[in-house]
Amino acid sequence: MNLETDILVIGGGSAGCMAAIVAKEQNPDVSVVIIEKGEISRSGSIAMGMDALNIVVQPGITSPELYMKSALIATEGILDYNPSNIMAERSYSMLKRLESWGIRFPRDEENKYISLQVHAKGNFLLEMDSPDLKLVLAEKVKEAGVRIINRTIITKLLANGERANGAMGFNIRSGEFVVCKAKVTILANGGCARFSLPNSGYLYGTFDYPGNAGDGYSLAYQAGAQLTGFEYTQCSPLIKDLNCPLLYITLTRGAEVVNALGETIDLEYVSTQNMLKELREGRGPIFIKMNHLPEERIREIERILFTTERPIQKKFWENRGVDFREGLIELGETEYQLCGGHGMTGIVVNEKAETTLKGLYAAGDVACVPFQHLTGAFVFGEVAAEEAVKFVNNKELSEVDQSMINDEEQRLHNIMDNNKNGSISVKDFEYKVRRTISDYAIPPKNDQKLKRFLWWLPRFREEMKSIRITDYHELSKFEEIQFILDCAELSVHASLARKESRWGWFHYRTDYPEKDDRNWLKHIVLKKGIKSGEVQTLLVPIKKGGKN
Ligand SMILES: Cc1cc2nc3c(=O)[nH]c(=O)nc-3n(C[C@H](O)[C@H](O)[C@H](O)COP(=O)(O)OP(=O)(O)OC[C@H]3O[C@@H](n4cnc5c(N)ncnc54)[C@H](O)[C@@H]3O)c2cc1C
Repeated sequence: MNLETDILVIGGGSAGCMAAIVAKEQNPDVSVVIIEKGEISRSGSIAMGMDALNIVVQPGITSPELYMKSALIATEGILDYNPSNIMAERSYSMLKRLESWGIRFPRDEENKYISLQVHAKGNFLLEMDSPDLKLVLAEKVKEAGVRIINRTIITKLLANGERANGAMGFNIRSGEFVVCKAKVTILANGGCARFSLPNSGYLYGTFDYPGNAGDGYSLAYQAGAQLTGFEYTQCSPLIKDLNCPLLYITLTRGAEVVNALGETIDLEYVSTQNMLKELREGRGPIFIKMNHLPEERIREIERILFTTERPIQKKFWENRGVDFREGLIELGETEYQLCGGHGMTGIVVNEKAETTLKGLYAAGDVACVPFQHLTGAFVFGEVAAEEAVKFVNNKELSEVDQSMINDEEQRLHNIMDNNKNGSISVKDFEYKVRRTISDYAIPPKNDQKLKRFLWWLPRFREEMKSIRITDYHELSKFEEIQFILDCAELSVHASLARKESRWGWFHYRTDYPEKDDRNWLKHIVLKKGIKSGEVQTLLVPIKKGGKN
């Protein structure tokens, strides 16, 4: 399939849908294509809805300045001012946009939005009550006249080291090779959910949407864009074995966390570090306790958990025989992930969602706007679209090097041909890669451990020749393993470069156990060496603004 478009959006999740809708809204004559690996009605981090919009600055109640103070605490100072500030400034109008689409934000008796505190300062989280959010977004995309190409994985960007001109990939079912030339490309394809192995051992039993395997990070890196925050390897204490979210939903409604000794754990705000500490120091298992809450609160919590987030939870608790009125919810450590939404990992972007490659924009979890959550995905989807529409204005499609297209098509054909009799299943191979990430690339880190991973890396890449590929779905899994390996390589290099410990457990180095603001209050930026093809690490100053 050969496509030509003004704007190509890669990924039809929260940010991608928003970007496509807003681009058509800005200029209906602009052609917009979304290429999505799954099916946009249910793909991405929102499969149904979400219980909250985590960052909303309500005029007269909170302020962008207060949010920035909170964000600086959460990031321990590794934060560029402008993108996060713009997100905070535009968050309220985003809420109003969503409301105009029928998304419900509950209000109290005084007609005020119900807000809760999960940040160090200020009630920025607004409750949201819309189990149909993803369907609404998908419907809006269709109504806007956006062309949607589902079940197509992007495997390579069309780029020449300086600018991006579209992307290539293939249909996961039919294998059809897809080329999309574009004046502007917006990457909106999420973080790396499949990084280390969950304790359950299930490859897809991850907290974050498992369809995101760090594709966007790898695509941007291979095309020459800069990335940052890869040393921030994060996990959460969530429902043991299920890895489903519930902390914000329960703790903000009066639940407590207790350890194995029956002691209540002090949580300054919903900070996960204290909980992880209990587990690591042997006072686990830890539990969420709700038996002191009134019946109507428990019902409210059950309603949210069993409808908006993941309805499977209802069955899970029934089968375990746990009733929140009496029983405790056991928490376990999730797998480690890389994410620009819940964490600090991503493609370097400015407040216009521009990456360091011309014509390439990034929005949502794929971009580094620390802890931007759903608010950031929506706001930067909007920003990227506005900027993209300006960019395409009166421009012609750039010349694309045909040999690049031929090479990618041939590469995919070769894998199908050469790997059909491979001896290792793609599932077993991914298991081993991610188990090795669990062994060496996550905290506690040290020089030796991290370098052990680098010893394994070329072996894995070589041994991929032995993976058995019998259909295009398996070919897509093969490609995802390459993305995961690229992310692990980037993460290990960033972790080696940051010779200090920061962000509590998430970048704890036993050989540099102290935080060292004097030398390391900087970004570790990564990019591909043009000549060597190796990972280059740069120390980049923080871009300050406002009063910080
Ligand atoms: C379980 C959970 C609960 C959350 N709860 C909240 C909450 O209550 N409030 C809040 O503010 N935030 C919440 N968040 C965070 C928020 O949902 C995310 O930050 C946001 O949805 C990310 O949007 P995105 O568009 O960047 O990624 P996604 O929505 O994940 O979309 C990425 C899309 O890209 C596609 N894709 C990936 N790779 C490729 C490829 N190679 N080719 C083509 N397509 C590709 C994927 O299939 C996917 O559809 C939650 C996140 C999770 C996981």
